[in-house]
Amino acid sequence: MLDYISTRRRDDVVKNFEEVVLEGLAADGGLYVPAACPVITPDEMHAMRNVPYTGIAHRVIQPFTEGCIDSDALYRIIDKAYKNFDHPEIAPLVPIDKGLYVMELFHGPTLAFKDMALQFLGHLFDHILQKRDKKLTIVGATSGDTGSAAIEACRDKDTMDVFMLHPKDRVSEVQRRQMTTVLSPNIHNIAIEGSFDDCQDLVKALFADQDFRAEKNLSAVNSINWGRIVAQIAYYVYAYLKLSSEKGTENIVFAVPTGNFGNIYAGYVASSMGVPVKKLLIGTNSNDILFRFLESGTMKTETVVPTTSPSMDIQISSNFERVLFDLYGRDGEAVTGTMQYFRSKGPFALDDAMMTRLREIFAAYRFDDAATKEIMRHLHKQSGYIADPHSAIGIGAAEKYIWNSPLEEKDAVVALATAHPAKFPDAVEDATGHFPPLPARLAGLHRQEERLSVLPNDLQQLKTFIREQK
Ligand SMILES: *Cc1c(COP(=O)(O)O)cnc(C)c1O
Repeated sequence: MLDYISTRRRDDVVKNFEEVVLEGLAADGGLYVPAACPVITPDEMHAMRNVPYTGIAHRVIQPFTEGCIDSDALYRIIDKAYKNFDHPEIAPLVPIDKGLYVMELFHGPTLAFKDMALQFLGHLFDHILQKRDKKLTIVGATSGDTGSAAIEACRDKDTMDVFMLHPKDRVSEVQRRQMTTVLSPNIHNIAIEGSFDDCQDLVKALFADQDFRAEKNLSAVNSINWGRIVAQIAYYVYAYLKLSSEKGTENIVFAVPTGNFGNIYAGYVASSMGVPVKKLLIGTNSNDILFRFLESGTMKTETVVPTTSPSMDIQISSNFERVLFDLYGRDGEAVTGTMQYFRSKGPFALDDAMMTRLREIFAAYRFDDAATKEIMRHLHKQSGYIADPHSAIGIGAAEKYIWNSPLEEKDAVVALATAHPAKFPDAVEDATGHFPPLPARLAGLHRQEERLSVLPNDLQQLKTFIREQK
């Protein structure tokens, strides 16, 4: 059995994989991490070189579920999770330039990388809940993208009811339709007459209401959930194995368009597991807290500015707390102190020794909207590749890295592409002159029936609505 601990632990409490997945956030406000990281030896890696994606995912995820999910059940969960992807390789690698590859993580049902983890998490939840004969109510607020990925992950499962709030008339038509055309009886789309912040406040208020929370067995599927992280580790291992087998790659750099730090944190775990990661490149837009932190050693929030890469418009990167825990020598007291200070008082700084260690692993690159557009433009011109603005930020980070430290023969850089260009057609057309058409699976979206409820920005009415659904 693999034990899990909270990054803010003050005692010897340990949890198992199922508990950690169902709880999401630890009761002390911390994030769960394994007490010891499983390892894949170089020999085992070598033996897996030609295994398909789902087989690698199983080998990667299995040790994290030790003692909770049996191996066959895990196979079935993984199989169901990735059978809806429209590419046989699940996460194909596209060569862009010498030593530079794009790994496309957007071949799932909602065309964004969130599907890689949420499709897995949906089936995992379903499995655990069936085993326990339990039912969950999942509530969330979305400004567009996460909502549809969560809905696609939970549709048609009678172990879960999903209530997804979005700000009425403030998400794009495609984003709305991706959510509201899912007519499964367990999916409830609610358009709130208010802003995204109003939606988030309503969700927070629901969770803060202990009675309601217990009555409906409330849960969330947000990016700090360990079940999402494990699914993301798999594609880092996959990329390494594929390039090592086909190109003789020995050292690998990953460039990741980053928001909440969930995606790149999975790369950090993959490195701990044995993938020879040379560097992890953080790409940010103008919401650059991580870039500033790596420069200065001080973590300081700023107000969020809207950009052409909205899924990275964040104020803080929650999953970074897991790296902080390691930097502090896994001292939960120290993490608690720092995080409480950060929330109540403001900026915190790490000492030089910690920053040196951090910079050995990570480097950060920032691109504003104009720079992002320029990456999309020259990429298309030079290689014919069309990237969405999020993916372009990862590719831009990779290009800058290679420019500053030319690659050695057996190095490869993999930039993670996190959204299909058709999800952000206006930005893509503006930069490249090409309007990317919706892939076949979404082409009929405009003709499909929608179902949604409109509610005022009112907690009481929201609670009544949730109670009334059967
Ligand atoms: C969520 C998201 C990101 C950011 O990923 P994190 O795990 O939050 O760092 C980047 N690009 C797209 C398209 C996303 O949906």
